[in-house]
Amino acid sequence: MSQPNFARTVANLHTTFKSRKTRPYKWRIDQLKSLKAMTIEKEEAIFAALRADLRKSNFESFIAETGECVNEINHALKHLKNWMKPEIVSTPIDNQPGKSKIIYEPLGVVLIMAPWNYPFMLIVSPLIGAIAAGNCVLIKPSELTPNTSSLLAEIIPEYMDSDAIRVIQGGADVASNLLEQRFDHIFFTGSPRVGKIVMAAAAKHLTPVTLELGGKSPCIVNSDADIRVAAKRIVWGKFVNAGQTCVAPDYVLAHESIIDDLTQHIKSVVADFYGNDPKTSPDYPRIVNQAHFERLIGLMDSGEIVSGGHSDEADLYIEPTVLTKVSTDSLIMSEEIFGPILPVISVSGIEDAIGFVNSRPKPLALYLFTKDKEVQNNVISETSSGGVCINDVLMHMVVPDLPFGGVGQSGVGAYHGRNSFITFSHARAVLIKSTFGDLPLRYPPYTLSKFKWLRRFG
Ligand code: NAD
Repeated sequence: MSQPNFARTVANLHTTFKSRKTRPYKWRIDQLKSLKAMTIEKEEAIFAALRADLRKSNFESFIAETGECVNEINHALKHLKNWMKPEIVSTPIDNQPGKSKIIYEPLGVVLIMAPWNYPFMLIVSPLIGAIAAGNCVLIKPSELTPNTSSLLAEIIPEYMDSDAIRVIQGGADVASNLLEQRFDHIFFTGSPRVGKIVMAAAAKHLTPVTLELGGKSPCIVNSDADIRVAAKRIVWGKFVNAGQTCVAPDYVLAHESIIDDLTQHIKSVVADFYGNDPKTSPDYPRIVNQAHFERLIGLMDSGEIVSGGHSDEADLYIEPTVLTKVSTDSLIMSEEIFGPILPVISVSGIEDAIGFVNSRPKPLALYLFTKDKEVQNNVISETSSGGVCINDVLMHMVVPDLPFGGVGQSGVGAYHGRNSFITFSHARAVLIKSTFGDLPLRYPPYTLSKFKWLRRFG
């Protein structure tokens, strides 16, 4: 599609927004219900597209894509009436008689740009918030998962109000043309590299942005941790979607006294989950494309392989792999891995682990396995990250009332549940005064006696 068509599409969305069609509660609820119907009725087609793009199993597609979206829609349907209510706040004496409240207004036309790793959920999840808040939306899915993206382009117009919600497919060229248009908010999920491009483009129109980025999320395993449970949860969170998950534990910092035990447990859990040859497991996905496959193979020799290490280029398969004796300045420790390779690094204690985390950019997630409450509190208070999950991985993402987002280099802003509604709304300050009792104190001439009163009571 050429740029003038983008301009027309965006202009049409602005016209729809100005018509106020998307503001009523009923429109929002109807659209959320249609989105839910689409997700449920088209589930087989969505599963097939995800299988074609990433060889995702139906189980993973359900828990991390369609099922999760239906849960989020149900949450929004249940709470939207409350979210939309004005929030009454207190009004100090100097503004009496008066009433103060916050009303939540839709922002206007929102651009949602998504990556390829959860290509359905990372479109639909922000879309839920944008609709709930009463916005028009332009969606740009990833070009790297063509089956899911073209399915979205086909089914969204079937179910959703096309005056207000549109899909444009394409790659970086299309995205950069789109970014020249004026939006009222840009919600971007993707790499920090493209996040910077998005933010720079948004600045030209003073458009606010939410940037859901990636990074290296550490997982600390303390000496007192339940190694068996920790290994199971780490293996699940790391190798789900073959490691192509923004909040996957990127690397493990394990206490030196338990590192061998932990890596042996990880090795046997991988076999329990995916069999002795994970290539034949119907549950184990593939790398998205050749470029990412080659990038990941290039990271394999950053340490000693203690389990895994096999790959098959023709099938874009990389075995769940655990590395030890990894140099902390190697390539694998300087970029987000985003694949099924897990470095396990030895630390001498919790302070050592905290120092390691704090010497790097603030991560999207931080994981810690320990039963010791003092250690839990210490790690939470001494570090910073988008979110923290203790004694588990990934699961903080599905608590609807927890904001999901990064901090520093891992992102700007947050969403999920009511936080999505807030992200896609303008919190408008409203003060309603009475003309009764118009005290002269604030008006000129500013006499000394008025000044004294002001100092005393103002
Ligand atoms: P990406 O940044 O390459 O692409 C994301 C989107 O940006 C795509 O729609 C793509 O078409 C577009 N794009 C690519 N190049 C562009 C350019 N030059 N100008 C404008 N737009 C451009 O990211 P990706 O490789 O698809 O996804 C992987 C990254 O996403 C990882 O860093 C991962 O951690 C992150 N991620 C973050 C979250 C989160 O919720 N925080 C979730 C999933 C993935």
